Amino acid sequence: MNYSKLLLPTLKEDPADAEVVSHKLMFRAGLIRKVAAGIYTWMPAGLRSLRKVENIVRQEMDRAGAQEVLMPAVQPAELWQESGRWDYYGKELLRFTDRHSRDYCMGPTHEEVITDLVKREVHSYKQLPMNLYQIQTKFRDEIRPRFGVMRGREFIMKDAYSFDADDQGAEESYHKMQAAYTRIFERCGLNFVAVEADSGAIGGSFSHEFMVLAESGEDDIAACNACGYGANVEKAQVKDTAAKAEGDAPAAEKVATPDVRTIEEVCAFMGVTAQEVAKTLVFETDKGVVAVCVRGDRDANPAKVKNLLGANAAELASEAVVREVTGAPIGFAGPFGIKCPVYLDNELKGLASFVSGANEVDAHYRGIAPGRDFEPAGWSDLRFILEGDPCPRCDGQVVVKRGIEVGHIFKLGTKYSEAMKANFLDADGREQPCVMGCYGIGVGRTMAAAIEQNNDENGIIWPVPLAPWEVVILPLSDKTGETLATAQKITGELQQAGIEVLLDERDERPGVKFKDADLLGIPLRITIGARGLKEGNAETKERATGEQQNIALDEISAWATAWVKERRA
Ligand code: ATP
Ligand code: MG
Repeated sequence: MNYSKLLLPTLKEDPADAEVVSHKLMFRAGLIRKVAAGIYTWMPAGLRSLRKVENIVRQEMDRAGAQEVLMPAVQPAELWQESGRWDYYGKELLRFTDRHSRDYCMGPTHEEVITDLVKREVHSYKQLPMNLYQIQTKFRDEIRPRFGVMRGREFIMKDAYSFDADDQGAEESYHKMQAAYTRIFERCGLNFVAVEADSGAIGGSFSHEFMVLAESGEDDIAACNACGYGANVEKAQVKDTAAKAEGDAPAAEKVATPDVRTIEEVCAFMGVTAQEVAKTLVFETDKGVVAVCVRGDRDANPAKVKNLLGANAAELASEAVVREVTGAPIGFAGPFGIKCPVYLDNELKGLASFVSGANEVDAHYRGIAPGRDFEPAGWSDLRFILEGDPCPRCDGQVVVKRGIEVGHIFKLGTKYSEAMKANFLDADGREQPCVMGCYGIGVGRTMAAAIEQNNDENGIIWPVPLAPWEVVILPLSDKTGETLATAQKITGELQQAGIEVLLDERDERPGVKFKDADLLGIPLRITIGARGLKEGNAETKERATGEQQNIALDEISAWATAWVKERRA
């Protein structure tokens, strides 16, 4: 491919709205251009890398026995009403009406469409198991699109859906996908971990997220420093180590606390540490309003609240709801006298009594004892895990790292097949719902994550399997045109050998060509200069290591071909 004819506009300046290095570099290297918030055009070089990720994904999905389909981006509301998600899916679902006033949405995911398809086309256990996947454009009206294609509104996802006759089969399908994902991200050259993830309230289900380790990640991962345990902090269990407090608690005493609201203010005013305070948070859920108490220096984990109640969603209550159950504005909630069930985090077992809000403006209690002053609705693991906490599986300690979620696998069970009646006839002729799994990979996000992990101050450093071109050839200008002729000859030979070559034959200064080659991150650079030609050499430079070599011109094509092929996934 000749650079001078390519739409490959490189830039010196970072885009104003770019916060992370992959976004900056994808923009500066001319891989993407923004059309609107969270909506991008893939430029020729960017699309080449994107296709490489897609191809790796496609090969591994096919190898795992999945079949490729292509479903529409536009989905009718009826399917979402059937599954029950039309009302429950929030504003991320972009809804619109057609000229006949029929409701539609842009698909953020395809459980409804695929379950409807399988319900119509699959009828017998003999057709199962079946795994159907697509690589397709999704739309989610993200509240905060950012980081370029990493959190876009329109983005390309590989989504797969498995259908099995029973639970055991569904678990086998799940493990097959787990293995396929591991191969995919290994082939992409990523440093990643698979961690346990929150799977919501669907009974008996489980899920894993594939996380690329990077400081810019939006997720926190708890990992054990001794065993292999790893989980999203949303999910990570906190080991229940608190010994039950001994002895009697002093009688509860109400204290006037004018203008004292935050934990720090309470501690300073009452002369206690945060470990002696029960922080009370009110949550609104589809199973009602509840209060949750955690130690003053901890944070309540909404995912754990949701799962404890078997709810679909749990979020911090609005000021109005807080006023309703506490009779006071935010900042004075406490377990004693509050008008909703109170759940306590396990760790509070270690306190015979604690300081808490009094459900009254400018008042707190000292000496509140659970069981004596109020009856907890339950004790549970309700806080976020923290660095240094004991590992829930072994004697090790937890470290917290940041990660980018590139893939998510999920055992769904029969939630959608039951709601949408995707049934099959088993060997005894009985009708049964299919047991489902769903499996997603963010294709563009995976590409961006690879850049997050592989870059330096000069630009991208592509792992060979994802590079838009494997080799860039730079003829330096000379009057005779000999360097160009040699570069063209080598380009032809490499292309013959199946190597992807970018020939930078632009009439530019060497410095410009070197800079662009580095910015674009092409793994191997071959420079043809007048001096080298006289000596019969080409100069090679590996982008990742910076290593340079002089290779004889009559060997360079074979050498470069071998170099690339060794590094392909
Ligand atoms: P997140 O928590 O990052 O919003 P999610 O849990 O909503 O992700 P899934 O519904 O599991 O994501 O989607 C499968 C995959 O699609 C994710 O693992 C991620 O790689 C990708 N993905 C999700 N949302 C986006 C987005 N807004 N932009 C780009 N890729 C995305
Ligand atoms: Mg999301």
